[in-house]
Amino acid sequence: MLLEELLRHDWSATEIERALESDDASALLADADRLRGAVCGDVVHRRGLIEFSNHCARNCTYCGLRRDNRSLKRYRMSGDEVVECARRADRLGYGTVVLQSGEDPGVSTDELARWVERIKRQTRLAVTLSVGEKTLDEYRRLRQAGADRYLIRFETSDRLLYARLKPESRLQERLEKIYWLKSLGYQTGSGCMIGLPGQTVATLVQDLLLLEQLDLDMVGVGPFIPHPQTPLASERPGTIEMTLRVVALVRLVTKRTHVPATTATGSIAPDGRQRALRCGANVIMPNVTPQTYRRHYEIYPNKICLTERPEDCSACVGGMIRSLGRTVTDEPGHSLKLAPSS
Ligand code: SAH
Ligand code: SF4
Repeated sequence: MLLEELLRHDWSATEIERALESDDASALLADADRLRGAVCGDVVHRRGLIEFSNHCARNCTYCGLRRDNRSLKRYRMSGDEVVECARRADRLGYGTVVLQSGEDPGVSTDELARWVERIKRQTRLAVTLSVGEKTLDEYRRLRQAGADRYLIRFETSDRLLYARLKPESRLQERLEKIYWLKSLGYQTGSGCMIGLPGQTVATLVQDLLLLEQLDLDMVGVGPFIPHPQTPLASERPGTIEMTLRVVALVRLVTKRTHVPATTATGSIAPDGRQRALRCGANVIMPNVTPQTYRRHYEIYPNKICLTERPEDCSACVGGMIRSLGRTVTDEPGHSLKLAPSS
């Protein structure tokens, strides 16, 4: 397709299905790379990831942090540690920090809000939160504290599969929270996993159409990776081939969004993140969690970058970006949907 067509094209379910099932994905991946170049340029945004607590009150059947996993050593960083990590991310030239955790009742929303306020006062960083489901008032409180963005994946658009993955909640509630976040003025990100047990190509088609319909600022997708201490331990992982097709389609279908080359994608194939950056992705999330905690944030096994220091991750990711002929920036990399002046 010509670039002008890629910029305008409204993808139908049938076209998405064909793209997911075709024998040869090379044209699809190349189209996504061209569209990425047109809407994002060659800059790759780095979002420093702080995994501040692995406590979780939920019991998602796919995730190693689920409350029934008794073999996980639990940790919770202090406010001072979190703020220090953010300052480090600032010094490394990242424009954003992402504060992520399980749904930890040990960190109150007020406390989290105070951390956000301190980071906003002491750094020039954009702050993204990824701490799961909260009430509308709690989301409002965090937004008022200065949080700019929120990541909350819907995981799958299939209602029944969702109920198997998250037995205590409903897809409709998750989607409602995405709308709340948008209405509060957060730059909002969502996404799904690829290769979930029981997921079909038809499910992925619906996932992509839902991502488009939600009109998001960020879209993160990655392969499902079975964790041995979960009910889904013996299921098969998602494949790199399908993951890259979905990354490409995320770019092609949602167009003006920030799309990360996710850590999970890099964990199932040695060059997974580089490949994702070449078929639509324009963001990477280097880890800035201190080494002592990092290996305990085991949402899935064989996660990459478990022993490196934040400085090592910075050098590695910088080298990776340059080796692809792309550039880094210390800008926050706000939503591509905001007016240029904001
Ligand atoms: N507790 C928050 C944020 C932490 S989990 C939340 O659930 O939103 C962040 C993401 O990790 C989840 O949205 C999920 O898509 C991903 N994840 C969890 N377990 C995984 C697994 N076994 N394989 C791949 N991705 C996983
Ligand atoms: Fe907790 Fe999030 Fe893992 Fe679910 S996916 S168990 S909410 S950390």
